[in-house]
Amino acid sequence: MAVRASDISRVIGQVPKDLLIGGKSISTASTLPVENPATGETIAEVADATADQGLRALEAAADAQPDWAATEPRERGEILRRAFELIGERADDIALLMTLEMGKPLAESRTEVSYGAEFLRWFSEEAVRIAGRYAVAPSGGTRLLTMKQPVGPVFAITPWNFPLAMGTRKIGPALAAGCTFVIKPAALTPLTTLAVAAILAEAGVPDGVLNVITTSSSGEVSSAIIADPRLRKLTFTGSTEVGRKLIEQSAKQVLKTSMELGGNAPFLVFSDADLDAAVDGAMLAKMRNIGEACTAANRFLVHESMAEEFATRLAGQMAELTIGTGTDDGVQVGPLIEQAAIDKIDELVSDAVDSGATILTGGEALDRTGHFYPPTVLSRVPAGCRILREEIFGPVAPVATFNSDEEGLALANDTEFGLVAYAYTQSLSRAVRVAEALQTGMVGINQGIVSNPAAPFGGVKASGLGREGGPEGIEEYLETKYVGIKL
Ligand code: NAP
Repeated sequence: MAVRASDISRVIGQVPKDLLIGGKSISTASTLPVENPATGETIAEVADATADQGLRALEAAADAQPDWAATEPRERGEILRRAFELIGERADDIALLMTLEMGKPLAESRTEVSYGAEFLRWFSEEAVRIAGRYAVAPSGGTRLLTMKQPVGPVFAITPWNFPLAMGTRKIGPALAAGCTFVIKPAALTPLTTLAVAAILAEAGVPDGVLNVITTSSSGEVSSAIIADPRLRKLTFTGSTEVGRKLIEQSAKQVLKTSMELGGNAPFLVFSDADLDAAVDGAMLAKMRNIGEACTAANRFLVHESMAEEFATRLAGQMAELTIGTGTDDGVQVGPLIEQAAIDKIDELVSDAVDSGATILTGGEALDRTGHFYPPTVLSRVPAGCRILREEIFGPVAPVATFNSDEEGLALANDTEFGLVAYAYTQSLSRAVRVAEALQTGMVGINQGIVSNPAAPFGGVKASGLGREGGPEGIEEYLETKYVGIKL
């Protein structure tokens, strides 16, 4: 059913637009416009925080820290669980809000609502499983006791591509661990975070435990917070370029950091792969979130014997996708977030074509309002092209070839990034060898999506530090203290 204009204004109207500091709504001298990328229209104005207001949010988090750390783990878990349920009850409204500010089709927004809420449920269950250990020293006598304690106030910076899940996979474990929190969502998509913070408050998160600052001056506001000694942890999801700057800034306070950064995922199709499954998996790995995902397959490396067939079948499926405004029925491919994204893709595609690649479908931005780029497949992409080295962040699939497992793996690992890799093969031993040899934090074997709240998500090399999700996720917000006891 088509979305009604009255639903759009209701959903946008009910989102708080002010900063949330210490449980209070704080307005700002100026505001920040939020645009719908499908229409270019401004859909809301939200508060535009200064560095001083950022520091006030940190102060509120620091003040709330002792009481929150002392709150019973069961109570912390129950609050997160209630927030999970409230998000489920309001899933349609949150999905619509996300589509309006970010552009992805409604069906994808609904999937993200389930995925994002699941982090609150998973970590509500982990809140009561924080434990240390007890041991006898090898030399006898002394006892070795370890305890886990919350790190302290956390500052989170999140990107625009998954406006809900990138927040909840940090908020869930931090609050479960007993840490208080300041979050700065992307300037392009602040509404979802503001809506979720209101839900968490309704679920019982005490004043000051979760603070939200929206700003157009992310560098200035963030660096003031990171330099403040009350902060104990920085968690960031975004580009490697910004992540590097934040690691440098964090060095001064020797902050504990988690960095979920860029990717350049290889999608390997070996000669014994089930081709139907590989093409279906490729569609998921490429087209989830319109290709605007750090986990998006960025390079399709296909055994020479099946590369032609793979590229033709992939192009066939890509060409059939329905492009349009995310709120329209049946749309599978929404707009990209901004014009700069289209300009970058244009450059990468031109560079590949100039180097000898062939366009099988798509290949040119659409001439219509909004930032639309069609699903595109390039075949015979020569090694060395920029499109094989840089993050595309859009619906373009470059296909290149290899002749042996060694060559395929060498190509896959020939990148500064190491977030995720996908491999299709029907041989168990090849799958295990390949999974061991890939230099990434995650590997999908015969599957095009790896994200799962119960699994540790994260990268190696320039893709980041730390893990989010799974039992590992809460460790990022805990310190281990060792107590030696002489008997
Ligand atoms: P981005 O430009 O790095 O921005 C991410 C966040 O950092 C935004 O909130 C942004 O604020 C803020 N920011 C920008 N410059 C900053 C600075 N100097 N100091 C402090 N904060 C700053 O990345 P993006 O374009 O939003 O997101 C796309 C990138 O995120 C891709 O590289 C993608 O791979 C990566 N990503 C990684 C993961 C993962 O889990 N590994 C998941 C999703 C996305 P403004 O909005 O105000 O610029």
